[in-house]
Amino acid sequence: MSATAAPSSPHVMNTYGRLPIALSHGQGCRVWDTEGRAYLDGLGGIAVNTLGHNHPELVPALQDQIAKLIHSSNYYHVPGQEQLATKLTELSGLTNAFFCCTGLEANEAALKLARKFGHDKGIERPEIVVYEAAFHGRSIATLSATGNPKVQQGFGPLVEGFIRVPLNDIDALKKATEGNPNVVAVFFETIQGEGGIHPMRWEYLRQVRELCDQRDWLMMIDEVQCGMGRTGKWFAHQWAGIKPDVMPLAKGLGSGVPIGAVVAGPRAANIFGPGNHGTTFGGNPLAMRAGIETIRIMEEHKLLENAANVGAHLKAALERELGGLAGVTEIRGQGLMLGIELDRPCGVILNRACEAGLLLSVTADSVIRLVPPLILSIAEADEIVAILAPIVKAFLEEPRK
Ligand SMILES: *Cc1c(COP(=O)(O)O)cnc(C)c1O
Repeated sequence: MSATAAPSSPHVMNTYGRLPIALSHGQGCRVWDTEGRAYLDGLGGIAVNTLGHNHPELVPALQDQIAKLIHSSNYYHVPGQEQLATKLTELSGLTNAFFCCTGLEANEAALKLARKFGHDKGIERPEIVVYEAAFHGRSIATLSATGNPKVQQGFGPLVEGFIRVPLNDIDALKKATEGNPNVVAVFFETIQGEGGIHPMRWEYLRQVRELCDQRDWLMMIDEVQCGMGRTGKWFAHQWAGIKPDVMPLAKGLGSGVPIGAVVAGPRAANIFGPGNHGTTFGGNPLAMRAGIETIRIMEEHKLLENAANVGAHLKAALERELGGLAGVTEIRGQGLMLGIELDRPCGVILNRACEAGLLLSVTADSVIRLVPPLILSIAEADEIVAILAPIVKAFLEEPRK
């Protein structure tokens, strides 16, 4: 990529290491940059663009809503909130939803729910179990819950009241909480995203559910990245046949329109009352319409099945091309949430894939992450593999740095 193609942003705060391109428009799973170069979108704006780009049913619906009402206020009833909450409770088997604008905001609300759940039963210093390598956002509370020192570095003092445990180890969870009457909740991602596509085992989810029931803890599952159909079920924990008490959502819920939600079951649905929590933009008519239409279009076009089928095809193809190679540690994930872990840091693959016309990300230093739009076709999945496999092979043949 030529240096002159790099757009510079001298007045934008320097919070991201950015690739030297700027995207201008998209169609389906394809996007174009301002220089006219095309890319296959294996990232979907980080698991956000559920319906890809310029979806022929989503765009007119959003245009219609913008012309009617973008924002009103939570001072009034917002009919779209009732409609989307009803839909989300149907899909999840839970009972009530609160709407906000981002993933961290949804998680922040979940953490507040857990603390108030504790206070309401007389626990003055509630503690919440969180996990190694977890990612829950970048507010002070959610970065404190996050299990990555890089995210926390420079922002202490951290919020207290978290107990950290390893994944998939029920004995470690029992030991870490033994005899502690202040524990109020267990909080985790069904499949860790930023942490490197690490799934919780279904058996472990069932064990945690049982423990939460026994001890009267809230089971809070951050489905911000793995939810909304990405794994082939509406929510990734549904593969284990369990239901959480609290489920934060965001990313894919609005196909690109900022939206977050906390969906709660009977044990958590009535913890907040008027004045306990709020947000100016949350639940606005435009975001609600985006959520409603996203789900409607997903149902109509059977995108859960597509995510499962195309995801399985993609994973099998990646296994075939890369699975046996020295240097490839593991290929993990489910549906259209896949990670290829290498035995060394591989951030440069992001740049090389971009130069070759494929957008993806590298997370946790050594995990190539694919979270494309859920409309991805088999042919497009094959194209991802055709671009990516040679890049990974060439990378692994280079001398280690
Ligand atoms: C992205 C992400 C968040 C944070 O969402 P934002 O919208 O960036 O605040 C929280 N949890 C998980 C699991 C995520 O993947």
